Amino acid sequence: MTTILQETAAPRGFVEKTALERYVAPAKPSLVGMSRGVLADALGAAGVPERQRKMRVQQLWNWIYVRGVMRFDEMTSVSKDLRAALDRRFTLERPEVVAEQVSIDGTRKWLLRLPGEHAGERPHEVECVYIPEAGRATLCVSSQVGCTLTCSFCHTGTQRLVRNLTPGEIVGQVMVARDRLGDWPGGTPPEGAIVPTDGGRFVTNIVMMGMGEPLYNFDAVRDALLVVADGDGIGISKRRITLSTSGVVPNIARAGAEIGTMLAISLHAVRDDLRDELVPLNRKYPIATLLDACRDYPGVSNARRITFEYVMLKDVNDSLDDAKKLIKLLKGIPAKINLIPFNPWPGTRYECSDWERIEKFSEYIFNAGYSSPVRTPRGRDILAACGQLKSATEKLSARERMALRAMAMTD
Ligand code: SAH
Ligand code: SF4
Repeated sequence: MTTILQETAAPRGFVEKTALERYVAPAKPSLVGMSRGVLADALGAAGVPERQRKMRVQQLWNWIYVRGVMRFDEMTSVSKDLRAALDRRFTLERPEVVAEQVSIDGTRKWLLRLPGEHAGERPHEVECVYIPEAGRATLCVSSQVGCTLTCSFCHTGTQRLVRNLTPGEIVGQVMVARDRLGDWPGGTPPEGAIVPTDGGRFVTNIVMMGMGEPLYNFDAVRDALLVVADGDGIGISKRRITLSTSGVVPNIARAGAEIGTMLAISLHAVRDDLRDELVPLNRKYPIATLLDACRDYPGVSNARRITFEYVMLKDVNDSLDDAKKLIKLLKGIPAKINLIPFNPWPGTRYECSDWERIEKFSEYIFNAGYSSPVRTPRGRDILAACGQLKSATEKLSARERMALRAMAMTD
């Protein structure tokens, strides 16, 4: 433990933590999140002959992802024998919800408990946030417990413990959201939920912007997103799924080839010396290399732009010169720029830029021909905004809570 803390404090050279914690599969695994291929193998294990497996997978897919059933005996089109055989070996479990918070702006945050490596040890916790807006509702999904990286302005980066989530735990977050929102055939939405007016779906978009660096948990994130995008199931199209990365360059091309969702890059700085400090991974993959990977991202066009996220840090990266350099850097890349007001957290050394600064920055970008939405902080009262997702296993001290409340009041 101490070693990792020391490494985190080391000023140079240290870029990544290792995901030291391992996932240990339970004796009865859940079918949720299995790819079609893995599900076919699971059916094989339950005694289904090979020639029937494809058809059975299709049946199960519908029960799991279209109807949201939680028990095998609800699968009435499946024979009783097969239901019993499945029940002996598998479950339909999702991650356990241990807390739900509802913000005054309709944002909902769920704290999910995941099994730890050693029995009796404190379990792992991750958060998942639901953000309804006019005409769409976005689910912000986590890819790791903690994060392998240590961006200096991000609360998640300060978490010591890191474990990669499994595909089941990633897809499971979408399932939990739909469970809690009553978004299955015959379901009842909870009180206060913003019900889609057009009879549409409660979750229309997914952003991989919760805890963790998705491209350091590549295989699980890929498998999970392919399940989420599958048109016979949850069916959220790849154009409505955005994967956000701090810049794991070699895996950007892989993401394009093997996943094919929209891409967001956490840029945050226009000079390598500053980005080295804010996003230490920059020491490994500097800005020019990162932007080359963006230029090569398959399918990028004016209709499918890459989003560049830029957190507004007072007197750090928010000058007009920074804005000018940003436009120069992005020349030739079909891009959107998303300015994120910094969300403070207890103990941080950064402050959010003044509103006037953010407006000036945004105006410059707009005049240069980019749409420059400033991301409205959502769910601040429940600590659900960007970068504030930090497992409740690391509880805030009373002093920290007071500091936080004071900060919230200055908004
Ligand atoms: N690890 C990935 C995705 C999760 S972070 C990444 O870094 O892209 C999602 C976004 O929130 C990133 O752009 C991240 O830089 C930003 N973020 C992190 N901490 C923040 C904070 N305190 N205030 C505002 N944005 C923050
Ligand atoms: Fe990890 Fe993203 Fe936070 Fe950086 S900003 S520490 S990559 S979650």
